[in-house]
Amino acid sequence: MAHLLNAIDRQLAAWFEARGQGAYRVGQVRRWLFAQRVAGFAEMTDLPQAVREELARDFTVWSTEIARHTRAEDGTEKLLLTLADGGQIECVLLREGPSPGLSPEGRGIRRTICISTQVGCGMGCVFCASGLEGVERNLTTGEIVEQMLRLQMLLGADERLSHVVVMGMGEPLANLDALLPALEEASREDGLGISHRRITISTVGLPKAMRRLAETDPRYRLAVSLHAPNDALRRQIVPISEKIPLADILAEADHYFERSGRRLTFEYVLLAGLNDRPAQAAELADLLAGRTAIVNVIPYNPVAGLPYRTPSVAAQRAFRQTLESRGVSVHFRHRKGDAIDAACGQLRRRSKESRVKSREPDTRGRGRPGSLALDS
Ligand code: SAH
Repeated sequence: MAHLLNAIDRQLAAWFEARGQGAYRVGQVRRWLFAQRVAGFAEMTDLPQAVREELARDFTVWSTEIARHTRAEDGTEKLLLTLADGGQIECVLLREGPSPGLSPEGRGIRRTICISTQVGCGMGCVFCASGLEGVERNLTTGEIVEQMLRLQMLLGADERLSHVVVMGMGEPLANLDALLPALEEASREDGLGISHRRITISTVGLPKAMRRLAETDPRYRLAVSLHAPNDALRRQIVPISEKIPLADILAEADHYFERSGRRLTFEYVLLAGLNDRPAQAAELADLLAGRTAIVNVIPYNPVAGLPYRTPSVAAQRAFRQTLESRGVSVHFRHRKGDAIDAACGQLRRRSKESRVKSREPDTRGRGRPGSLALDS
């Protein structure tokens, strides 16, 4: 059976045409999937019953199974998905701001989804859980779209997705062929309707792929994971950078900025005793001087079995003040969903370790929080 989400328009247009049905049927199915958030063809009630049944015979909407669904007190929800070939990926829904019911005008409300692009990761950043066992394979477009739809289904009827960050497992720029059509579905008016500037692609910094993105589709926000202010230290933290000097990455980031006009983000995971000294903040400020950029500092989220530590609050503050005193815009990423291992790759890893086979029901999350398992 074909996975519908791999190429919705192309597959459906051909299918309806072969049956003498109007092209408007494609739009009907899209509306049910993206706007009405239904689980399958059976619920698409403006299509004739026979058509729905035939669609269900020829296409599957879902190619993954929910292996685990966790929800933290702060509203963060995480899905561990098992792919058709048995691989596992994670994706996360982050809630910020008051619940919509309390604040009808919707100011300050964010519903951000964080999605994966690969099973595992080949970049090998020393502190990250996703890459501990290397990369297994790229995800398909359908598997990426599926994460977005499944996360959207966790929302209450009065909630809407506002942002997408491609910051889950894997290196997005190593899988642009599948990612770009998936993000197209996120941004299209008859897709998730999320504007390009609210979609961020995070990369370890692959210059050739950054160039390709700049030349083909510079509408998204770009975030570049630096983690170090010089090549010597970066090589220790980001092994892939052995062959990729910071200067090349920054040159491509600047080129992307020229093409996109969008402020760049530089990510910096703060690791105690390794890259968190004020002198390193000063060096980072010098490195980034003159750029329209924001530095997203992420205090290390501990991964079981790895030797790294989260810097003290005082060290975090000193790092921030040094950057700010040198004119750098800084954002500290608040840790969300710690209790459910929301940092990339952690849940999958734990699942592998404990060989948890338990299956949470596909509840769609509405009004049934009691049925959600909290990771211990
Ligand atoms: N491959 C992409 C996307 C990775 S995930 C990239 O490198 O940018 C997005 C961010 O989360 C990256 O900056 C990554 O370094 C960071 N990250 C990964 N594991 C982390 C951890 N345990 N604690 C804090 N940040 C982490």
